[in-house]
Amino acid sequence: MRRNDSVRAIKGVGEKAEQCFGKLNIETVGDLLEHYPRGYDEWKPIQQVSSVSEGETAALEGVFASRPTLKNFGRLKVLSADLQDASGAILVTWYNMPFLRSQLKMGIRYILRGKVGKKRGRLVVEQPKIYKKEEFYRQVGKLRPIYPLTAGLTNNMVIKAMEAALKETEGLNEYLPSPLRKRQGLVEYKKALRQIHFPADKEELRQGRKRLVFDELFLYQLALSYIRKRGREPSSHKMEAREEIGQFVEGLPFALTNAQKRVFGEIEKDLTDGFVMNRLVQGDVGSGKTVVAVMALYLAALNGGQGAFMAPTEVLASQHYKSLCGMFADRGVRVGLLTGSLTAKQKREAKEKIALGVWDVVVGTHAILQDNVVFANLALVITDEQHRFGVKQREELFEKGREPHVLAMSATPIPRTLALVLYGDMDLSVMDEQPADRLPIKNCVVNTDYRPNAYGFMKKQIDAGHQVYIICPMVEESEESELESVSIYTEQLREIFPPEIKVDSLHGKMRPRDKEDVMERFSRGETDILVSTTVIEVGIDVPNATVMMIENAERFGLAQLHQLRGRVGRGDAQSYCILMTGQPSKDSMERLSVLAGSNDGFYIAKEDLKLRGQGDLFGVRQSGEELFALADIFEDAEILTQAAKEAEAFAEEDIRLLCSKNKRLKERVERYLGQVTL
Ligand code: ADP
Ligand code: MG
Repeated sequence: MRRNDSVRAIKGVGEKAEQCFGKLNIETVGDLLEHYPRGYDEWKPIQQVSSVSEGETAALEGVFASRPTLKNFGRLKVLSADLQDASGAILVTWYNMPFLRSQLKMGIRYILRGKVGKKRGRLVVEQPKIYKKEEFYRQVGKLRPIYPLTAGLTNNMVIKAMEAALKETEGLNEYLPSPLRKRQGLVEYKKALRQIHFPADKEELRQGRKRLVFDELFLYQLALSYIRKRGREPSSHKMEAREEIGQFVEGLPFALTNAQKRVFGEIEKDLTDGFVMNRLVQGDVGSGKTVVAVMALYLAALNGGQGAFMAPTEVLASQHYKSLCGMFADRGVRVGLLTGSLTAKQKREAKEKIALGVWDVVVGTHAILQDNVVFANLALVITDEQHRFGVKQREELFEKGREPHVLAMSATPIPRTLALVLYGDMDLSVMDEQPADRLPIKNCVVNTDYRPNAYGFMKKQIDAGHQVYIICPMVEESEESELESVSIYTEQLREIFPPEIKVDSLHGKMRPRDKEDVMERFSRGETDILVSTTVIEVGIDVPNATVMMIENAERFGLAQLHQLRGRVGRGDAQSYCILMTGQPSKDSMERLSVLAGSNDGFYIAKEDLKLRGQGDLFGVRQSGEELFALADIFEDAEILTQAAKEAEAFAEEDIRLLCSKNKRLKERVERYLGQVTL
């Protein structure tokens, strides 16, 4: 079996499993091997009953002092018993396993392992498994991988397939030169794969993870230096500066900030100096990036070039589309929208207008650059809220021989030092200033007892004509539960608030069309409260919203919280952010206090880096940063620096990796870059 074989080649993977894997974008054996665990179930030793806490999976040893009781709740049969050890007793329940009642013996010691929950204020071990002594002690200290799943695929199925793939795949050869491996203290590639999936202990996991994280960052850096070495290419879209831009600025309802002026100046220089622009604008949330992008698009249009403005979601794309139509209304710039949810006919018409040059600016999702869209004269590509325009995608643009200027806009604040390493192939502009009329957001961190007060406060804000976002409580990862928790929460709010207050909800499983309708109603002010999952986080701009409440705030990373909070404080009214916590640990309280104490994204990013330096291996992966499968640019900042250094050395010596000793590495980089040959 080889890397490129279909997953079907793995013993035990049939057509149905293949389809399920397909939903997770796993097509080949190689894809499967890179499907890393999202966490590990650690078999901890036996604990005392009195030391368990809610949410953990605990192993307990004790006796049942009295016979278990069996109760029926509708069709649900609940068996409960008290398990006792020297430290106390705890409630244990099993669902729909009535037969256990006669099997459990009084006065005999049992070892149980299960998840600890809370029912009516009491801790309870739910649905625990019973283990024989030897069986239990064989597992203690081991880590069992927990994989991202999809309907129809169980964790056990993935484990089985993974074991087979690790055992039988050939050609998982080492490709890093061994002096480099020694220098960096990295284990061999194949060993690392085994260690990340099935670590014998934490140390193995640390080693395996370190190697694979290094690989990701190293390959990325090599690809970057390759692009950088090529240097700035002469552009076939050299533009002339135009007076109309000044008139456009004068027509705006506000004065530009100095940062906006400076950044546009940098862009204008790039566009007019005869070389291809490749620039990243890092601007804090609310700093007003869109209008700067619009000015660049306008300049391109005035010079007869087309522009593509790409957003990560359809909702955001249509928001941009509307505001561009508004701003360009009497300036003769023709704007069009191209997204995945258009009908086939609409798409065909859109493509035609793009090909004929009828549209000067096309707003849409990444679909714009795929799907055989041909531009009459594409001069400028702007990606919003995408702090990278992937190395691969940029290569694609070059390959297609249409080398437009590229402008990436990101609100993910990353400390400058990191940005230089990560986006080393781009020029960097920083927009670190908020429009003058903004009042700083007022923040507070509260626990759930405060919820009624929070609702009261929201009512007042709504009565004063404002709107509210609530980020819904998070539940375990699963497809249905996201929907469920949003709808339950929304229903509850509708009961709590008087009927004239309109509550609406938004979640990731909705069709784009429906999402858009919800957003549309909210931005027109027809909805007062919008309950949402984190799908809301990117770029939505409704200046009239003044309250953001985030449930389970302790479960988010700082960068993401800052993004969420950035949905308010976008107009001239005072805005508020309520960070509601369930049971925060000391670490998460520390994080939240950083957030409560500052609204400055760049400061927060720096603090985040400091705090996460001590981050633990089992920490929940930071969502929103999908550039790497494993690496976390904050937590792994040290490895990132090392990888950059090593890659730099290669770039000096042999950027195309022509030396025969680098043959395998070359193959690996090429695979990483897609179809590109170095
Ligand atoms: P972001 O940088 O987060 O993408 P936007 O570009 O969406 O921010 O701008 C946020 C809001 O601020 C918008 O409603 C926009 O019209 C407004 N805005 C942009 N620039 C200024 C400015 N210089 N003064 C006042 N308001 C501005
Ligand atoms: Mg934006």
